[in-house]
Amino acid sequence: MDWTAVLGWLEGAGISILNVFVALLAFVVNPFLSLCNPPLQAFVPLPVAPPATIEKHSIADYQILYGADATPAEITAANTLADTLRQITGVNYAARQGAPTGAKEILVGQLGGADVAALGDEGYLIKPQGDSIIITGGRPRGTLYGVYRFLEEYFDCHWYTAELKVIPTGAAEIADVREESYVPPLEYRETDWISPHDTTYSIANRLNANSYRQLSAADGGTMGYANSFAHTFINAILRPAEYFDAHPEYYAYRDSEKTRVPKQLCLTNPDVLRLVIDQVKAYWAQPGHAQIVCLTQDDNQSYCECANCKAVDAAEGSHAGTMIRFVNAVSEALADDPVYDDLLLDTFAYQYTRTPPQLVKPRANVIVRLCSIECCFAHPLDDPNCPDNAVFAADLKKWSEICERLYVWDYTTNYSHYNAPFPNFQVLQPNMQFFVQYNVKGVYEEGNYSASECNSEFAELRAYMLTRLMWDPALDYEAEMAGFMAAYYGEGWQYIREFIRLIGDNTGVPDLFGQHRRLSIGRRPIEKELMVLNQSQVRYADQLWAKAIALAGAETARQNVLRSQLCWRFWKGCNRVEEFSWLLPIGQWQAANKALYADFQAFGIVRYAEGSGMITDTPNYWQTPMEWRKG
Ligand SMILES: [Zn+2]
Repeated sequence: MDWTAVLGWLEGAGISILNVFVALLAFVVNPFLSLCNPPLQAFVPLPVAPPATIEKHSIADYQILYGADATPAEITAANTLADTLRQITGVNYAARQGAPTGAKEILVGQLGGADVAALGDEGYLIKPQGDSIIITGGRPRGTLYGVYRFLEEYFDCHWYTAELKVIPTGAAEIADVREESYVPPLEYRETDWISPHDTTYSIANRLNANSYRQLSAADGGTMGYANSFAHTFINAILRPAEYFDAHPEYYAYRDSEKTRVPKQLCLTNPDVLRLVIDQVKAYWAQPGHAQIVCLTQDDNQSYCECANCKAVDAAEGSHAGTMIRFVNAVSEALADDPVYDDLLLDTFAYQYTRTPPQLVKPRANVIVRLCSIECCFAHPLDDPNCPDNAVFAADLKKWSEICERLYVWDYTTNYSHYNAPFPNFQVLQPNMQFFVQYNVKGVYEEGNYSASECNSEFAELRAYMLTRLMWDPALDYEAEMAGFMAAYYGEGWQYIREFIRLIGDNTGVPDLFGQHRRLSIGRRPIEKELMVLNQSQVRYADQLWAKAIALAGAETARQNVLRSQLCWRFWKGCNRVEEFSWLLPIGQWQAANKALYADFQAFGIVRYAEGSGMITDTPNYWQTPMEWRKG
């Protein structure tokens, strides 16, 4: 037999000798694995409790009023309430300006005389007052958020995705209104994904930043950036194309290259400071600018190693030394001019600047955005048994001691394989609670910002849960998830909840020697760090999906189930298990690959990873789905 020819043929088909070895090994080992893994118990969904009986009052007689001095956002709030009540009741509500008379009125905004001093910019108060109901809040956004809360609480309205709004119709009554107020712990709340780009979704779910949507004054305005919100030094403020040839000294000196490189700034150069201050002034002079100017390093490790920068960083015990001293110097230069009273300057504690400096403290208007990029997302960030997270948690605690305005840039997807399951639902709430416990004031949950090109996993569910958690880290997580999943996935949603629990329980599992496995944001689907499932668990997961599909009901819900199931089929294909197993006849597992690719196309899944990671137009079905890449 000509082994060279066989190997050549295998290579031509995209199969390595390792692939063959693994297939042979699996053939020998699999029957024994089946003996080791008895089938799991079938999953039994919980019964749904009937709603409690509540005394209700007719709302047909209520007038909706706003005051003469109502802001644009408060008028929007009153109109939103009227529009939604019209959809719910069929009564032709209209909001109008008017003074309270003590009759049955819903008083929207600050006309009811309630004390709003403690509500800040965004807190709301809902309370009964005689025959009236007050929905008020701080300015600019509190009243608007109060109206959405009112509609959720008393009429079960939900804005689950940009398309999926739940506005139950037919109600003509309202339960007794209880007094309730809430002030969110985070002043800045941002995420990307798909629906968070939508204005109504964002307002309804209280996203307030401006990097993925624009919010006018009538939308409640924004807490956001006057410039781009990341990597601004090189990409926007001092572009090497403009300055590097004439002034290489503005840029980082690298010891290894014995020269200046146009990748980061030299933050101890006084001309760099002067030019950056000028640019901050220019951003601030733009009409309608937002509150924060972003002064952040580029996405590489080439920090300056000139003698001056080196000396500062050595004294501070961190490269954050030069960074914070520099941003403080910008802050100080503008401190005496009242024009800049509301200016906030933002910088990163990212990669080489993650460790807090030992001497300098950020000035009061300096935001430090701490980035969790190196962390493990199988375990909560404050899990002391997760070695990757313990060092991050220590950094966060130290920053929170020296920084009055600490923000977090957190990561919630797999940037190398967007279509693989990312088992992180078990850490979303503990992480948000950890941030708030240490006085974090803003959070950006970076997710799959390309999700519209590869929505094959749990994009909308994760976006919704993150958005809701940023508003209220203490929310009832299971109830919130149940509400979304029942509306989005239909009657069989509990089977998908069980699948999410299964993968969450089997990620970050220590190896045979007890070594920690880190769920990073760039795992290949075949890595045990992503998850480890035995054959019984794989078959159990298949049964869960089959049930969810069978019970979905409405076609849109069924399509949502099939779309999210793609991540599971992708994982099975990459790992060559079940219908993708090489132990089956070739035609059978290749047919599974073909069907998966066809469904990727049908659901518009054209991307596998961040950046240039597009899926090929000419898939090789001898290869696993992980290898269907363009270029
Ligand atoms: Zn330098």
